[in-house]
Amino acid sequence: MSCGACASVCPKKCISYRFGGAADESYAHADEATCIDCGKCLKVCPVRNSEIATASPPFTGNYKKVLATYSKNSELRRSAASGGFITTFICYMMEKGYADAALVSKRNGVTGKAFIATTQEEVIGAKTSIYAPVDYANGISELFSTTCKKVIVVGLPCHIQAINNLRKVNKDVDAKILLTISIVCGKTPTTDAYRYIARKGGFDYDTITSVKNRGEGWPGYMTIRHGDGEYKVSYKSEMSMGMVLSSPFMCNTGCLSCVDGVGVSADLSVCDAWLPRYMKQKSDGWNLVLLKSENAMQYMGNDEISHYLYYEECSIDDFIKANRRVVEKAKTGNKIRLKENRVALGKEAIGFKKKMYVWITKAINRTKVFQSKEKIGRLTLVFGKALNKLKG
Ligand SMILES: Cc1cc2nc3c(=O)[nH]c(=O)nc-3n(C[C@H](O)[C@H](O)[C@H](O)COP(=O)(O)OP(=O)(O)OC[C@H]3O[C@@H](n4cnc5c(N)ncnc54)[C@H](O)[C@@H]3O)c2cc1C
Repeated sequence: MSCGACASVCPKKCISYRFGGAADESYAHADEATCIDCGKCLKVCPVRNSEIATASPPFTGNYKKVLATYSKNSELRRSAASGGFITTFICYMMEKGYADAALVSKRNGVTGKAFIATTQEEVIGAKTSIYAPVDYANGISELFSTTCKKVIVVGLPCHIQAINNLRKVNKDVDAKILLTISIVCGKTPTTDAYRYIARKGGFDYDTITSVKNRGEGWPGYMTIRHGDGEYKVSYKSEMSMGMVLSSPFMCNTGCLSCVDGVGVSADLSVCDAWLPRYMKQKSDGWNLVLLKSENAMQYMGNDEISHYLYYEECSIDDFIKANRRVVEKAKTGNKIRLKENRVALGKEAIGFKKKMYVWITKAINRTKVFQSKEKIGRLTLVFGKALNKLKG
């Protein structure tokens, strides 16, 4: 997943972490000559240790309340990813003194970098979604060194799982964390996707100076600035989330076997309100939010929050409908994991439907081996889109 949690706990510092490259380049490398087999890296790895394996239906993690919400700061709402919930909530928590810092991520050219923000300006500067690899290891190392004591951690489900695994092995880190917020995630595109867009858009990838995946309303636009000018398409366009950025051929290998798109272990899970009743209102964005812990309920139950956020209650069915494929993926993947355990123990045989799921994941992986990234074409991406649908 390229979260870097393993590198942060290695006592021999033998794990190097190659970040931000093409799909098959961006992962952790262990120097086996220095490795002492202590197993700490495996304990924190979010792929190997996901709480989804113990979760039960509806595979979103336990929840106490579901809200549809948006920021009452109209400028922030328009420029944030969805309704601006995350940024507004953190600013509120800082303003009231409940939180003193937040682990957020900021764009840095094509990719992004996680860091500890200690002011509202820094949190606002890190708003909106980065649909590209994020150097989360930088955020984790700042979390180790910060003197802040009430940190809100924002990340993808894999990041939050890594953080929660780290909390179990490092009590100092655990003591600093006030709340965790997981962003719902379909998958993270690698830089391959942007190389493809540059090739098709007729500009040089190496001249890209900035990328913005969302903003300017909802669902908004992707804007890439490059040496010769600007490339701009709507969020749903084929060149953005419509096909290229959501392609299984252009994401981390870990994403293909990910079973937690919601962040089961987080205090709050946040997504886009992809539901007709919110989409119809030509609005500047809505979020759906799962409140999952007493802590989350306490802060969101505060009357004063209504000055910052508009919110209304909705149901878990709404949350699932808004992101059916992400939740279904978790449901099927989780069943397979549990079943694979039983199969491994010789207690059961794997059924046809589940075999299909495993085959499709393997097919995608194998095809990646034969792909020349420079030549990847539209037909392959259409094939990828069909595989995505079939897998869902
Ligand atoms: C890779 C990716 C895939 C996603 N897939 C889906 C999906 O399938 N369905 C869905 O409903 N929603 C998805 N989302 C979530 C959605 O895009 C919004 O992030 C979410 O609704 C929160 O909106 P907001 O307006 O409250 O966020 P904002 O107020 O704009 O704040 C966003 C926060 O997230 C942090 N952040 C942004 N990108 C990253 C990243 N890559 N890694 C770690 N932290 C980051 C920022 O630092 C900021 O603090 C995805 C997001 C990402 C980054």
